[in-house]
Amino acid sequence: MAATSSIEPHSGGDARICRGCWDQMHVPIPIRGPLALPFRAFGITRSKMNPNICTICERSFRYVKKQSHVAASATILFADIRGFTHLSERIERVRLSEIVSLFQDRCAQAIWAHDGIVNKQMGDGLMAIFNFPIVRKDHAEAAIRAALDIQRHCAEALGRLDLGGPGERPLGVGVGIHSGEVEIGEFSSFRSDFTAIGGTVNLASRLESQAEAGEILVSPETAAQAGTLAAEAAARMLTLKGIDQPVEARVIVKRD
Ligand SMILES: [Zn+2]
Repeated sequence: MAATSSIEPHSGGDARICRGCWDQMHVPIPIRGPLALPFRAFGITRSKMNPNICTICERSFRYVKKQSHVAASATILFADIRGFTHLSERIERVRLSEIVSLFQDRCAQAIWAHDGIVNKQMGDGLMAIFNFPIVRKDHAEAAIRAALDIQRHCAEALGRLDLGGPGERPLGVGVGIHSGEVEIGEFSSFRSDFTAIGGTVNLASRLESQAEAGEILVSPETAAQAGTLAAEAAARMLTLKGIDQPVEARVIVKRD
C-alpha cells in the first residue's frame, strides 16, 4: 500500500480524494482534479453534506458495507434560528428565504471546516454529524469549535439584517451538542442517503431546543471529551422532554 501515501487526503481544505471512503474503507475515490472526471461521468460527485466526501459514501450502506446500518461513536450537533417561527408570521417570504440561506451557508462552512457533515437541513434548523464518515478522534472538540464558528459567523450575518419592525430583536442561533453511540445507516426504503438515529441524537436535539440565542448547550459526555474548551463553561440543570434524569448541561457562550 506504499503508493497510497501520496494520495492520502490532507485534513480540511480541498481534498483530492474522498475522505469518507478513505477513512471508512481505505479506498481512494478521486473527487477533484483530472482523475475525478471519469467518476463524474458515472454520477459519482462531491456530496452536498460535505465537499470532501463523495456520493458513494453517502449511499454506501447497502452495497459497500453490505448492511443497512452500523454502530458508531459520534458527536451530533443541532442548530436553529431562535424566534424564527414568530418572525415568519410577520415578514415577507423573500426575506425569510434570505435569512434561511444566510444561516444554512454560514453553518455549513463552519461544520465543513471541522470535518463534520451537514446530514439534514430543516428550514431554519440543521443536524450535523462529526466522526462519520470522516474520522476525527477529537470529534467532541471539533463539534464545539464548529458551534463557536456558527455563533460568530451567524451573529455577524444575522445581526446586520434590518428586520423592519421597531423593537425587533436581532436574530440569534441556538446550538445543542451530545456525543455517544449512534446507529448510522439508511432507515428509509425510498431515500438512499444515510442518517444517524438513537438516544444520542434525541438528547442533542433536546439540548438545542433549550438553548437561548447565542448559546451552545453541551452534554456532560461531550464536555468531558472536549478538554479546556468546556472546562470553564457554566453548568445548567435541565429537565428535558422524553429524558428521565435531569441533565447537567454546560453552557458555552461565544467569545467576541
Ligand atoms: Zn466517498
